[in-house]
Amino acid sequence: MKKILAMLLAAALVLSLAACSTGTTSDDDGADSSETPTASPTAEPEETDGGEALAEDASCDIVVIGGGGAGMTAALKATEAGASVILLEKEDVLGGNTRLGSSVFNAAGSTMQQEAGTEGATAEAFAEKLTASNTAADPEAIRILAENSGAAADWLSSIGMDLSRVFNTFGHGPADGSAPGALIVEALTNEMDAQGVDYRTGNLATAILRDDEGAVTGVEVSTEEGDYTISANAVILASGGFAANSEMVAEYDPRWEGLSYSCSPSATGEGTQIAIAAGAAVSNMDNVKVNPTAYYLDDTNCISMAPLRINGCIMVSHDGVRICNEEGAYTANSEIIMNNGGEVYMVFDQTLVDSVAAISNYNDMGYFLSADTLEGLADLMDVDKEAFLETCATFTTYAQNGEDPDFGKTNFTTDLTNGPYYAVLVKPAVQGTFGGVTTNYEAEVLDTEGNVIPGLYAAGECADDGTMGEAPLTVNVVFGTIAAENAVAYAAAGEAETAA
Ligand SMILES: Cc1cc2nc3c(=O)[nH]c(=O)nc-3n(C[C@H](O)[C@H](O)[C@H](O)COP(=O)(O)OP(=O)(O)OC[C@H]3O[C@@H](n4cnc5c(N)ncnc54)[C@H](O)[C@@H]3O)c2cc1C
Repeated sequence: MKKILAMLLAAALVLSLAACSTGTTSDDDGADSSETPTASPTAEPEETDGGEALAEDASCDIVVIGGGGAGMTAALKATEAGASVILLEKEDVLGGNTRLGSSVFNAAGSTMQQEAGTEGATAEAFAEKLTASNTAADPEAIRILAENSGAAADWLSSIGMDLSRVFNTFGHGPADGSAPGALIVEALTNEMDAQGVDYRTGNLATAILRDDEGAVTGVEVSTEEGDYTISANAVILASGGFAANSEMVAEYDPRWEGLSYSCSPSATGEGTQIAIAAGAAVSNMDNVKVNPTAYYLDDTNCISMAPLRINGCIMVSHDGVRICNEEGAYTANSEIIMNNGGEVYMVFDQTLVDSVAAISNYNDMGYFLSADTLEGLADLMDVDKEAFLETCATFTTYAQNGEDPDFGKTNFTTDLTNGPYYAVLVKPAVQGTFGGVTTNYEAEVLDTEGNVIPGLYAAGECADDGTMGEAPLTVNVVFGTIAAENAVAYAAAGEAETAA
């Protein structure tokens, strides 16, 4: 089985281009865990007389479906615990939506925060912030997320991910302000190579198998070389969401029918569908996160301009006025934009271009309008000029006073006085789906009657774990770890029973 390594150029990755992904290939094969797995993950394609490769059945302790942040974390943690693991990725490169994580890895109590002397970055304060911004989230799930988030950041840091830039109390990212997602994927991939994890790109999981008593027994897999079966004691579903599946989005949340997506094209929901077919319950499927500020390259390809929002831009409608707190919740802001003409300009100055690498890269790509003065910028925009200039002047006084009485914005990195000035026209796009297979706090998947499906676990965007889409990059590591720990314990218990 050929393994394709996801080694992308960091500069290209920073752009978070939803439809863009490239990789280099390697012929090296997935090695078994160096620990002593009870079942060795083997599946070399057989050569027939005609030289045609055929997929071969395999077995292992744990199959992980999906090679994004949640899946790679789970595969690594399970491997570290001594299990034999096969990770399946349907695309030719690893990374999924995780690769596109553009702005921030949120956590509390990390070593990086301690070293930076960040005040107030406690797990309690983090949990409070997350539940305040998302009242639908389950407080216990948020507590688990918050209390394990600092360790999650430290673990990523320990495998080579630069999260040394700490900002906005809980935010972490690379020192130069690059987008974190692609670099997280690179760090996880390198670690899987270092640990000899058997990961298989171009391998689509098509079914989750259960025995007569309901316990999971493995998965069916489809590849270009043919179909095969992997027998396993446990399966961890980490297949991401369905934001790029417009039909599923419209079915579960018709408000967003017809919008394009700003996520990876891989987010098509097959993992959720095979879990449903295997008897899993789904919940909160209408918890669709819509990115308010996507820059449309064409009708389908978008780039998230979130780094501008979280680093201090203002947003104005064609009427030249602000319409929301730029730092407000994604989907709420999307609704406001949809109700105010459907698009807005993000406006900022040289301060943001100079201080955040992701923004500087967008500028280099030519995505922004720019002019030496705000008047000149207004002439390039389709905007009520007088109202726009008044809005900018008002914001300057707000920033200088450190208070926004209109909408409660708190990030005043720029006061819009440091030209040149920039604007980019953006509109909403579907970015993520944060309902999915119903899980409990142990990342166990429940069936439609609320019973645990023995041996089936889920983590990340495919799981409705109660966090409701708060801090998803962090959820990947925290709940990917929980899924792995419990799957390893379950698989080991099954083996002990068989041996007895
Ligand atoms: C533009 C953008 C910006 C974002 N910015 C941030 C941010 O700043 N901070 C933050 O916390 N979060 C951010 N997010 C959200 C976050 O990146 C994702 O929610 C999260 O990383 C999803 O991780 P995952 O592992 O669950 O899924 P993914 O990373 O999508 O991985 C799932 C993988 O499973 C594979 N797969 C699916 N079905 C199958 C199958 N049947 N068989 C085999 N493989 C399968 C997919 O191809 C995919 O590679 C952003 C998302 C986007 C799109």
